[in-house]
Amino acid sequence: MKQKKILYAGKAKSVYRTDEKGRLIVEFRDDITAFDGGKKDVLKNKGSYNAEVSAFFFDYLAKNGVKTHFIRMLDARHMAVRELEMIPLEVIVRNIAAGSIVRNYPFKEGTKLDPPVIVIDYKDDSRHDPMLNDELIVALKIATPQELKKIKTAALKVNALLAKILAKQGITLVDFKIEFGRQGKTIYLGDEISMDSMRLWDKKTKESLDKDVYRFNKGDVMDTYNRVAKRITKTGKKP
Ligand code: C5P
Repeated sequence: MKQKKILYAGKAKSVYRTDEKGRLIVEFRDDITAFDGGKKDVLKNKGSYNAEVSAFFFDYLAKNGVKTHFIRMLDARHMAVRELEMIPLEVIVRNIAAGSIVRNYPFKEGTKLDPPVIVIDYKDDSRHDPMLNDELIVALKIATPQELKKIKTAALKVNALLAKILAKQGITLVDFKIEFGRQGKTIYLGDEISMDSMRLWDKKTKESLDKDVYRFNKGDVMDTYNRVAKRITKTGKKP
């Protein structure tokens, strides 16, 4: 597969056309940002840790019946994927109250959310990703009610599978964000699942093992990403 012209550059990933129809290459760059791009850095090897963890999870989810865009890794930071028409939603699943729902609503940090809470934001940096509801999603023609149902069912299945495999490594899945795209009538999981898009706590020590280390200067970000990538992918020998 040959990389052709760039299609899109986001805050931490770039997407390229390829010489194969319906196939794209996602490059996981070393850029890291937080607070709507208000905090930015370049951290050596961050891209390859996120790519490795994303590939591991996509493979595990596919083996468990979730349709994903992942095809294969081309090298440590380049992923071959199926081209999708992306749906501009940030689908967040929360098992424990943390982050923005603690800031915005009267939840105490660490409260278990059972059943898990799905929050869907409109992916639009210029509007600061405002929260949507089902009626707004349909009125804006972002997704049909049928698609929305499929997206929520898939998000809860991804949550259950990720929580299970992470628990085996003593990691609590607090919350995460995923994105979906369509090809015809089929909805696929796209984007990434990495330390940038999940909130992970060590089960025993409650240490943050994700981008919160960067957001809130909690320690050495790359040391954390390296350790957590090893912990996660080690479980994967027999997913
Ligand atoms: O900030 P908030 O608490 O809403 O984030 C919930 C989860 O979604 C976190 O795991 C965070 O890393 C992820 N997220 C993301 N991209 C965004 C917003 C949130 O990956 N634009």
